[in-house]
Amino acid sequence: MRIKLSERIGFCFGVRRAVAMAERALEENRLGGICSLGPIIHNKEAVRDLAIKGLKVRKDIGKIKGGAVVVSSHGLSPKIKRAISKKGLKVIDTTCPFVLNAQRIAKRMGEEGYVVVIAGDANHPEIKALVDFVPDASGAAKVFVVKDKRKIGALKISHEDKVGVVAQTTQSTQNFLDVVKAIADKKPRELRVFNTICNDAEERQRLASCLAREVDLMLIVGGKNSANTKRLFEVCKMALKDSYLVETDKAVRRGWFAGKGLVGVISGASTPEWIIKKVVSKIKIQ
Ligand code: SF4
Repeated sequence: MRIKLSERIGFCFGVRRAVAMAERALEENRLGGICSLGPIIHNKEAVRDLAIKGLKVRKDIGKIKGGAVVVSSHGLSPKIKRAISKKGLKVIDTTCPFVLNAQRIAKRMGEEGYVVVIAGDANHPEIKALVDFVPDASGAAKVFVVKDKRKIGALKISHEDKVGVVAQTTQSTQNFLDVVKAIADKKPRELRVFNTICNDAEERQRLASCLAREVDLMLIVGGKNSANTKRLFEVCKMALKDSYLVETDKAVRRGWFAGKGLVGVISGASTPEWIIKKVVSKIKIQ
């Protein structure tokens, strides 16, 4: 079986940085125990690997008695960050610079009286945190999270409103543009658009789409809870019906390969290289 790997595979810059920061803190072992609030990255295998090294995962700060808390690359609500500091816990903040950029913009837009519209998934940790960066000190700030353009019709945006739009860093560019167009159609007084989609996510999607058009079968390696992995799967599926999302080599099925000559492999931004290598080895023996 021939295999073609995507030019961009394995951890993205932000995840590599976050994992390295957590591992460094674990190695130094000076902080009296380290935990992360939720999984540090959206990949079960990688989280298990870090747990073996000593990184405990906690759902909330209530039960954390001491030591340090790792903030994931998705960022953290300023309210929760303040609560962590209030408890006297140290913070290892691995928020990705691309996410920080979106947070700064959302904060500034809110302060300047803009209605902030975020194109993204309201349940994703990045967006749960981002929403809290829009200040509501005046009680006037408005922030909306929309998954796609179909949600724009119901938003209360008037001709008097100034609107600022930002994107979840892993959004598809087309979805973001569709959302922006739908908002423009509501004719707000002013519309400011900030493309906060990260370069890595955009480039992976572009490469995934090209590769899926070239091969007979596409495997997308990554966590099913990873937004960018799911997005890559959607992009591939649009181009090639025989596209499959696999979390590990164990999910690879022999039946997929019947009559296929060339297999494309791409990974989400939070997939460690050792998982990809195992998947590739499994493909080779089909
Ligand atoms: S996908 Fe982009 S925004 Fe998210 S952690 Fe990686 S580099 Fe940062």
